[in-house]
Amino acid sequence: MASASFQTITPVDGSVYLERRYADDGEIDDALSAASAAQAAWAATPISERAALCAKAVDAFVAKADRHAEELAWQMGRPIRFGHSEVGGFEERARHMIAIAEEVLADVQVGEKEGFLRYIKRVPLGVVLTVAPWNYPYLTAVNSIVPALMAGNTMILKHASQTPRCGERIADAFAEAGLPDGVFQVLHLSHEATAKIIASDEVDFVAFTGSVPGGASIEKAAAGHFLGVGLELGGKDPAYVRADANLGHAIENLVDGAFFNSGQSCCAIERIYVHADLYEPFVEGFAELTRQYKLGSPLDPGTTLGPVVRTSAADFVRGQVEEAVAAGAKALVDPTGFPADAPGTPYLAPQVLVDVDHSMRVMSEESFGPVIGIMKVGSDEEAIGLMNDSPFGLTAAVWTEDTEAAIAIGDRIETGTWFMNRCDYLDPALAWTGVKHSGRGCTLSRLGYEVLTRPKSYHLRTAT
Ligand code: NAP
Repeated sequence: MASASFQTITPVDGSVYLERRYADDGEIDDALSAASAAQAAWAATPISERAALCAKAVDAFVAKADRHAEELAWQMGRPIRFGHSEVGGFEERARHMIAIAEEVLADVQVGEKEGFLRYIKRVPLGVVLTVAPWNYPYLTAVNSIVPALMAGNTMILKHASQTPRCGERIADAFAEAGLPDGVFQVLHLSHEATAKIIASDEVDFVAFTGSVPGGASIEKAAAGHFLGVGLELGGKDPAYVRADANLGHAIENLVDGAFFNSGQSCCAIERIYVHADLYEPFVEGFAELTRQYKLGSPLDPGTTLGPVVRTSAADFVRGQVEEAVAAGAKALVDPTGFPADAPGTPYLAPQVLVDVDHSMRVMSEESFGPVIGIMKVGSDEEAIGLMNDSPFGLTAAVWTEDTEAAIAIGDRIETGTWFMNRCDYLDPALAWTGVKHSGRGCTLSRLGYEVLTRPKSYHLRTAT
């Protein structure tokens, strides 16, 4: 028999941090009915009122930033000193999507035609289900929640079993803002129940963020039900440091891009290609800066590198590293310099590997942990070939002082976002999207609204 509840095991010390009951069939039916019943009135609510309510919810959420930071540390291991940046990112994205809604959702005018009134309206899809991951539990969820609501949809959120409280906190903020009943609801759901909801014909869109296998399951559940599916999946994001790069900036930014959140970011830098002219000083500086991290309890304000989410995730990365080293890679960081590093726990020292190649899993498979492989390249051409040699395509980045060269290289890279001199960042004004196994669809930006609405054409003959 399927389990009726689940536990969240904290990576801090392996104890049970939370226990939640899964929603039962009756609660799920009630939530779907409430979402459906509330939708027409919500869609008829002026955008300015929807904006005021969403803005109030953002205010309520931000006001509790300290509590969110502490809860993030317990649920998924984010060092407490960095918890506020997630709240800040939530606010930035939410406020941007609220600010552009009126303009983006306005009717599309198609030009005058005598005797006719013609325009295209953007209408909400209906009920949107968001399925969110634990690694950036607020940042990923907000990408679809706020625009879906602003567009006039009602919403159900299923958050990860590692971060159930994050879903509840978002619901608290909307409740505090006075959102009408049924417009935003959180359910704790098993995979089976999630699939059942998707196949129930009672939701109109699923916004999924998570792993490639998770995305594939969602697509299967949706097949034949004619609902939209947005998939924000994994990555193996590359960076290329050109010979003309600002070395200090490249090192500093790429160490952060590789190791922030213990490398558990979909757009973390996972492989670096460095031009031969800069290779030696880059590798030396990169390894030196990596050794400065302080690995420890995420609750300690001095900690700059927390544990990964669970021991199995640490073991997965350890396995990739051991395999690469056995195949000839060189590990530049001595884990004994990190006293908290302990096999059999999620506490894992960062690692920098050189003498790697693409036959090694650490250079081809998403690591989602604090490890990076660095390879020497001789030309832009070689770097382009290596960057594209991946089943993923979420983001990619180049470090150079030559903007034209950056654009020319970027035109040839198979990626959803192309960066120059930055990485591991989402600008809410730009479309967040991936190619290949990194996903389908798009969130954020004005294009994100197109996914959460459908066009409705008005074709009226006014002269008969
Ligand atoms: P995950 O295991 O796929 O889980 C993500 C969410 O989907 C969770 O809520 C999970 O529920 C649910 N889920 C997973 N399999 C499911 C299924 N078969 N049926 C229904 N629901 C299912 O991914 P994760 O380990 O949490 O997150 C890490 C992955 O997400 C990485 O690959 C990362 O790159 C990717 N990611 C991508 C983006 C992006 O924007 N492209 C952003 C962040 C993360 P439970 O928790 O209950 O299992």
